[in-house]
Amino acid sequence: MAEGWRPAWADIDLDAVAANAALLAALAAPAALCAVVKADGYGHGSVPVARAALAGGATWLAVALVEEGVALRDAGIVAPVLLLSEPPVEALAEAVARRLVPTVYTHAGIEALGRVAAAAGAGAVEVHLKVDTGMHRVGADVSELVSLADRVAADPALRLAALWTHLAVADGTSAEERQFTAAQVTRFDEAAALLAAVGHRPPLLHVANSAGAIAWPDARRSLVRCGLGLYGVAPTPALAELVAAASGGRRLEPVLSLRTRVTYVRDLEAGERPSYGRRRPLPTRATVATAPIGYADGVARRLFDAGGEVLVGGVRRPLAGVVTMDQIMIDCGPAGSAPVAVGDEVVLLGAQGDEQITADEWARLLGTISYEVLCAIGPRVPRLAHGDRPA
Ligand SMILES: *Cc1c(COP(=O)(O)O)cnc(C)c1O
Repeated sequence: MAEGWRPAWADIDLDAVAANAALLAALAAPAALCAVVKADGYGHGSVPVARAALAGGATWLAVALVEEGVALRDAGIVAPVLLLSEPPVEALAEAVARRLVPTVYTHAGIEALGRVAAAAGAGAVEVHLKVDTGMHRVGADVSELVSLADRVAADPALRLAALWTHLAVADGTSAEERQFTAAQVTRFDEAAALLAAVGHRPPLLHVANSAGAIAWPDARRSLVRCGLGLYGVAPTPALAELVAAASGGRRLEPVLSLRTRVTYVRDLEAGERPSYGRRRPLPTRATVATAPIGYADGVARRLFDAGGEVLVGGVRRPLAGVVTMDQIMIDCGPAGSAPVAVGDEVVLLGAQGDEQITADEWARLLGTISYEVLCAIGPRVPRLAHGDRPA
């Protein structure tokens, strides 16, 4: 079987990635699109997603780790790859050798990079200087910015190619959140002006993540760094509508679907309590199907308590008991009411017939965000990339 001996897999629609990239690129133009493929492409597979995003119109890629950038280069991807944090000193030689574009925001980081770049002797290494405008994760304080830029400029092995920042609440709709984002953009402009006043005019400026790119036209600048949108998930339902309104009705298309097959099925008496903890009695004599995917694969154990459902035969069915490490049990309704057989497809995320379960639905049930749902899908689940373009 294509999906492996165990029938549990994630379908990855690369045509949807390319379409989402095209949509975001058109929305953000003339800003360029940087496709964020960190964390193995938000669990979708970084290399095929990167290729599809580039085919769709992205011109940059971004990753969190040097290792993630190396994986793209090993696959033969030559597009510029931005490292979203200052790399560990130990990784700088590899970052330079692989032509990854480092972010910097400390004197020590710039000095170490300068030494490595000089030793590599392959021309000036472009760096993107990051300023903290309110996210308070990583990035230089505005008060440090000029001295950091001076240090880059003074080093013949380095070149200041960009100034950038990151928004903390670009998806927010409250007055306070909108004020905060506006203030971050203003602080960014002030930071750029400070640099310009002493003669530093980095050719690229970038600010926006997916939410910023969609909701904050003023934050688009030279480049937008989109992750979530590329995977066909809008940061919020309101932003999904905003994309459609700005794109002639075209929508972001979900890329990943998580599927398995029924491996065991039988009727159980009313009152039987399937799975660990014997948590919930079956309301009637019911058909209960077992499928081989569990919390070790990223299907949260608390999905049962939260009222999680799956699709079988195009119908929403509740879990019959808690998710176990490797398997789930599904209440397929009163015995005899619907035929369910070994081999039937079970959809955890994605569409079947007219029904669809989204990462947002799981996120709501689980009290988290779609990002975490997608990234949680574990390495034991094969990703099957489909599409017109070679993966
Ligand atoms: C992850 C990340 C992004 C992408 O964010 P999305 O909300 O997924 O678009 C952009 N910029 C930085 C710095 C990030 O860490």
